[in-house]
Amino acid sequence: MIQKPKGTLDLYGLEGKTYEYVLSYMSSFLNMYNYNYVKIPTFETSELYKRGVGESSDIVNKEMYDFLDKSDRSMTLRPEFTAGVVRMFLENKLYSKETNKFYYYGSAFRYERPQSGRYREFTQFGVEAFGIKNPYFDAEVISIAYKMLTDLGLKDLVVQINSLGDNSSREAYKNALREYFKPKLDNLCEDCKNRFNTNVLRILDCKVDKDNEILKNAPKTLNYLSEESKEYFDILKTALNVLEVPFEENTSLVRGLDYYTDTVFEIVYKDSNLGNASVVCGGGRYDNLVNELGKINIPAIGFSIGVERLVLLLNEANVKPIDNKVDIYVMNLGQDKYAYEIVDMLRNSGFITETDYLNKSMKAQFKLVDDLNPDYILIIGEDEAKGNYVTVKDNLTKENKKVEFDELIEYLSMI
Ligand code: ATP
Ligand code: MG
Repeated sequence: MIQKPKGTLDLYGLEGKTYEYVLSYMSSFLNMYNYNYVKIPTFETSELYKRGVGESSDIVNKEMYDFLDKSDRSMTLRPEFTAGVVRMFLENKLYSKETNKFYYYGSAFRYERPQSGRYREFTQFGVEAFGIKNPYFDAEVISIAYKMLTDLGLKDLVVQINSLGDNSSREAYKNALREYFKPKLDNLCEDCKNRFNTNVLRILDCKVDKDNEILKNAPKTLNYLSEESKEYFDILKTALNVLEVPFEENTSLVRGLDYYTDTVFEIVYKDSNLGNASVVCGGGRYDNLVNELGKINIPAIGFSIGVERLVLLLNEANVKPIDNKVDIYVMNLGQDKYAYEIVDMLRNSGFITETDYLNKSMKAQFKLVDDLNPDYILIIGEDEAKGNYVTVKDNLTKENKKVEFDELIEYLSMI
């Protein structure tokens, strides 16, 4: 038996249905905010991620699914979407419009150590908005993620925010971190020793050292913010209150990617068994990335939700945004012509309808009904076909009612 590759996932049954429902739910949510769906390639040149995500990130250093194609070009399966969306934005000169608001979803690939909530192929659903720098807008972006997740039924969510500040704040902060960590390097993990040289901010994002006192006592970003960045962050907090998004400040939140500036945030599900995989959404402002890839200054902000993690967390919280039942089961007892006509009519009228195609006995069909748990069972036997009516059985009360063929749809729509 061939098995699925390590770190990949099969979703079926109610989980498969929930996965699909969640994607379509979030898509319609974003349409309400006038975000437009964009589709980008599943793989790009490796160069894009090296420059766009950053050479010092775990993603580029350890997790890239890269390969040489048959013409020896180095390609990478997308580990995230932001770099690809920025590339699309630049290549198609979409900046000719002052603002652009996009959403996307699809597979991302990272060569990680698989565990619950952490896979090698997973789905990201996210947004990227270009051309706007306004803390009220940042708050709106955060509120979109928060509202979508709570609307789907996830309750115990915590929004954590931080500010990395503008370029000058970041430089001042990085210097302070270098000074602080330099005499303590021996007590940090091997990766952190490297991060000290490549991108000292990253030490704060370490999954190995995260409970280390040295990290906990490190200097805080907020003390190094420029006046402008401080004011921006203060307005962001006011705006979050206006939009009724509860939040916590997390001064060690730096996020895994190189390109963030000012606002960063994560949405975490408290009390989860998923441990460090309980972060369901991460995002932030990245005012330098468009310039890094396209040499024009355009501010931007986005977030990304891990859809499999979301489905797992809904499961864990015992929240079912959608159920697996059907509206109506049509029990065909040897009356194909009449029964299939009714099945078709029901579906045309929008009822989720199931029937039997294998000429099963009444007893066998009632077993099926137990599984499907329909609201109503339409029994169609010889008498019904001859008399041009159906017997409608209420699956809850078990009561039967005869309904004329011509009145069937109206009757079912009323009850
Ligand atoms: P983490 O800290 O958990 O590694 P990250 O900072 O690497 O996450 P992002 O790059 O911000 O994650 O990706 C956005 C979201 O995608 C995460 O918040 C998470 O929900 C999801 N995600 C990231 N990596 C994985 C993975 N390997 N498997 C499943 N979901 C993932
Ligand atoms: Mg990661």
